[in-house]
Amino acid sequence: MHLYGTAEINKSGHLEIGGKDTIELVEKYGTPLYVYDVALIRKRARAFKQTFEKLGIKAQVAYASKAFSTIAMLQLIKEEGLSLDVVSGGELFTALKADFPVEKIHFHGNNKSEDELVMALEHRVGCIVVDNFHELHMLHHLCQERQQVVNILIRVTPGIEAHTHDYILTGQEDSKFGFDLQNGQAETALQLAVESKFLNVLGLHCHIGSQIFETTGFILAAKKILEKMAEWQTSLGFTPKVLNLGGGFGIRYTDEDTPLDPAHYVEEMIQEVRKATTRLSLPMPEIWIEPGRSLVADAGTTLYSIGSSKEVPNIRKYVAVDGGMTDNLRPALYDAKYEAILANRANEEPKDLVSIAGKCCESGDMLIWDLSLPDVGTNDILAVFCTGAYGYSMANNYNRIPRPPVVFVENGHDQLVVQRETYEDLLRLDLPFTEKTQHTS
Ligand SMILES: *Cc1c(COP(=O)(O)O)cnc(C)c1O
Repeated sequence: MHLYGTAEINKSGHLEIGGKDTIELVEKYGTPLYVYDVALIRKRARAFKQTFEKLGIKAQVAYASKAFSTIAMLQLIKEEGLSLDVVSGGELFTALKADFPVEKIHFHGNNKSEDELVMALEHRVGCIVVDNFHELHMLHHLCQERQQVVNILIRVTPGIEAHTHDYILTGQEDSKFGFDLQNGQAETALQLAVESKFLNVLGLHCHIGSQIFETTGFILAAKKILEKMAEWQTSLGFTPKVLNLGGGFGIRYTDEDTPLDPAHYVEEMIQEVRKATTRLSLPMPEIWIEPGRSLVADAGTTLYSIGSSKEVPNIRKYVAVDGGMTDNLRPALYDAKYEAILANRANEEPKDLVSIAGKCCESGDMLIWDLSLPDVGTNDILAVFCTGAYGYSMANNYNRIPRPPVVFVENGHDQLVVQRETYEDLLRLDLPFTEKTQHTS
């Protein structure tokens, strides 16, 4: 059994996180329940920041808030002094409500609407990461109308494949994101941006994928971009100040995953950037990174109650929980793997091989295949680890299942930061059918 952060098994044989007995949390808040280990989030945030500080590199560590965006989470990120990535008006709105310093907000997205760009300009976000020509022109014109100058990064696709699942690969040439580095689009975009009086180009951005376990991809991407920067220094007379190498740092979900220490990714990136800038006679840029998953994934645990079981003789035993693809879409979407234990009997030896099913009307709603547990039954509490990233943020109301609440735990304290959705909440936007919509002849 692999335990993360402050998790331990207490004297009652219960899983404890942040000094709180998870069974007591279940009694207080019900299931399903997301529990976040705040100390572990702080530790991860500090590890990234301190590595840059130690190496004396000007940097920004921006939390990619799409991984888990709520007001309390963004307040925690603010407290830890990180910057913030948002990718939609809704994420920006959450950041504003969390009173996040606007100058540290970076606005991403491959199809920002005019309304979203205006919202970003009105609130004077720190920078907009421009993804395509449509956006570049729109942003220029909006700024011209408003007579406002905005900081931007140009997002490029460096043509590097990160070794990870296809669906979450964004750095290769055939991608919906960014300006291509090889075919000249990136240079054209940079030239247009540099010529605009209203766009202040801070630098370049790339994001090569997600759940990456090696430094090679980041290093190759940095090298390619810096080589182009050196060319553009001559051809455009412009040298970017910022190199943003994105996020995607891998984490351990199961034994198959072998992530590196955050510090290791950062150290190797910086070493490469130092080497390349010296060789190419470029000034050392500020390095920005954007970890999402690696800041929050292993800090999150989902607690479920076990309900029904179904034994298919000689094939398998299905054990169903009171949630599923509504609170954790990743297994259905990416075939993602998770580990889990019985939170109420954490010391007992495993003897059942079971598969954990969700409660949705979809055969694909399976959370874990072939999990070893003690002989599990109704009312046992299942704790699924590492659900902190892309769990709550991808939660949905399929089958009209209300979304679970979120509790933060730290130093023996628990705090509700997202309430459980009610049936009334589910109907909040529904309007009744009226006779007027019927066709009368
Ligand atoms: C998703 C995303 C991230 C964060 O990715 P993680 O795998 O969660 O670290 C960072 N930057 C950009 C542009 C992204 O799209």
